[in-house]
Amino acid sequence: RQNERESLLIVLNFAKTFFQEALQKSDEGRGIGLSYFRERGFTNPTIDAFELGYSFDQWDALMQEGLRKGYNRDLLEKAGLILVKEGADGRSPKTFDRFRGRVMFPIHNVSGRVIAFGARILKIDKSQPKYLNSPETTVYHKSQVLYGIYQAKQTVRQEDVCYLTEGYTDVISLHQAGIKNVVASSGTSLTTEQIRLIARFTPNITILYDGDAAGIKAALRGLDMVLEEGLNLKLLLLPNGEDPDSYVHKVGAEEFKAYIKANSKDFIDFKAGQWLTEAGNDPNKRAEGISDVCASITKIPDPLKRQTLSQRVAQVFHVSEQSVISEINRLLRKQQ
Ligand code: ATP
Ligand code: MN
Ligand code: MN
Ligand code: MN
Repeated sequence: RQNERESLLIVLNFAKTFFQEALQKSDEGRGIGLSYFRERGFTNPTIDAFELGYSFDQWDALMQEGLRKGYNRDLLEKAGLILVKEGADGRSPKTFDRFRGRVMFPIHNVSGRVIAFGARILKIDKSQPKYLNSPETTVYHKSQVLYGIYQAKQTVRQEDVCYLTEGYTDVISLHQAGIKNVVASSGTSLTTEQIRLIARFTPNITILYDGDAAGIKAALRGLDMVLEEGLNLKLLLLPNGEDPDSYVHKVGAEEFKAYIKANSKDFIDFKAGQWLTEAGNDPNKRAEGISDVCASITKIPDPLKRQTLSQRVAQVFHVSEQSVISEINRLLRKQQ
């Protein structure tokens, strides 16, 4: 088992280097991949820090080089690098590279070893997924990984807060702008394991999701899970249609930092804001909103924290603290 893990990590490292060299040294990689990264504003130090690469637009360029280097087909397949398609009626199976003609984002574990890849197509094309990811393997369990944690962890500790974004390019562009305490859940919904990974470095998480309906929905889903782990949470929505990558390129690092400072909300203000814009003067909606915020408060393990937060809820919704406390207690009893 230990041996298989190590073999996979070695072949994944080979693939990483192959993709990096393709990006930097081949005409195809420079002409297509590197110019794509340039268009997105990524500098050389950034490309190096994230070990970005390019996969040739050929059926089996990586496999051929892998075989030549002595990695066998079985290992390449177990690492998620090649696909094997059974041959029809007795013909031999066809094998080909999983990633072809894409820019490559290696996914590192906390100690910096490559465990998987994310791969983006260059031109949006409805017939293909924008991002293609490695499958689950012995070394890659998607639910336990945060993109960028290796590059972020030192700054997360120093700044004592971790920004959580949706995507690869959000992490990379913020890092380049000097905001290095950033990770991404990479399109999957946030998991408890991912939150615990952040908790190794800081108890403070700020969710920084895309300013669209999907982003709001994902933030609301992640919120209770963060509270359940006993962490401190802030949330922040970007202006409509922006994500951290697009916004930091638009306004620059300083204004982006100022935006975070001015607009980060704790979960009560964030949820209340969502409810109050929707509810207006509808008393039923307001009651629903209060109950919803109270439901989140019940997730917090520390009773003292719950107590102080009920005061805030009462203020925000202009109701008595006693009514908030009794709603929290009602919900707690229901959960038992
Ligand atoms: P870009 O700026 O390159 O277009 P993005 O990060 O803004 O990408 P989003 O559409 O906001 O892309 O998605 C957020 C994240 O979700 C992506 O970074 C990627 O990790 C994941 N993702 C997006 N589309 C897909 C897909 N079709 N298949 C798998 N994962 C995806
Ligand atoms: Mn999005
Ligand atoms: Mn996005
Ligand atoms: Mn984007």
